[in-house]
Amino acid sequence: ARKAALAASTGPGATSDGHKVPLLANVGGPSDVPAAVEAGAEGVGLFRTEFLFLDDSKKAPSQEKQAEAYRKVLEAFPEGRVVVRVLDAGADKPLDFLTPGDEPNPALGVRGLRTLLDHPEVLRTQLAALAEAAAGLPVYLEVMAPMVADRTDAKAFADACREAGLQAKFGAMVEIPSAALRARSILQEVEFLSLGTNDLAQYTFAADRQVGAVSRLQDPWQPALLDLVAVSAEAAKAEGKSCGVCGEAASDPLLACVLTGLGVTSLSMGAASIPYVRATLAKHTLAQCERAAAAARAADTAEDARAAAQAVLSGE
Ligand code: PEP
Ligand code: MG
Repeated sequence: ARKAALAASTGPGATSDGHKVPLLANVGGPSDVPAAVEAGAEGVGLFRTEFLFLDDSKKAPSQEKQAEAYRKVLEAFPEGRVVVRVLDAGADKPLDFLTPGDEPNPALGVRGLRTLLDHPEVLRTQLAALAEAAAGLPVYLEVMAPMVADRTDAKAFADACREAGLQAKFGAMVEIPSAALRARSILQEVEFLSLGTNDLAQYTFAADRQVGAVSRLQDPWQPALLDLVAVSAEAAKAEGKSCGVCGEAASDPLLACVLTGLGVTSLSMGAASIPYVRATLAKHTLAQCERAAAAARAADTAEDARAAAQAVLSGE
């Protein structure tokens, strides 16, 4: 029965009353595209470009090599959206030639956009490769920066995109609590937000995502994390802009309903999760998702938040 339900789950993501929530795939490169297409992804919500940089420990891949990989991903979604994240080096994704080796707290050091602003030539080459890859394609390209802390970061990224002549929407990932708290200010510089709930949980709870001993605090059902999602989604709505989720949280079908209820406008996840999320979302109305979200936020623990959302969605 479960298999049949999943097979019946095709088409765009939506609640049972037709509120659309595009379901997008997280990919690391062209080799992840077939699974995304197979799962019926409506596009790519997070293209982690780090993987392209792992072949050579001394320098960045050439513009040509990058453009070739980007074009393969863009071509796979001719009508869809493709959100490319510029290089997120440092902390859990160190790169020898870019990441300082002597930081006492790499997760709090030079990583993500900070690395790119210290190495503007790497960002310039990547943006030029993206412009080259998108040229002549009907695709709807969006480019976002990881680890945006404030409006100054958002402006620096948007300026770099403009200087590269990129025809795309520019966005900011919300991975640092300061970015969620000041989302409206960041949205003065960029056109969309994407919540990276893995890092947002890490920085909200001061709990290293690589340390198993603190994994309780990495639970995406933590009500404090849900509060920051709500703050970000409300800010985007007030600015008439979109706010997606591309962290692991989006791949939990029940949590996907809660995120929808919090006002998140798209969900991006590993391709394998898409059919499950689509099927669960299709069983509930937007109003039910909103009630589940309110119930989860009213809880004090991750376990209680999950149970409260489950109770609302199963009609208890
Ligand atoms: C995140 O932090 O939630 C995210 C999507 O980025 P990554 O997991 O690649 O750091
Ligand atoms: Mg991240």
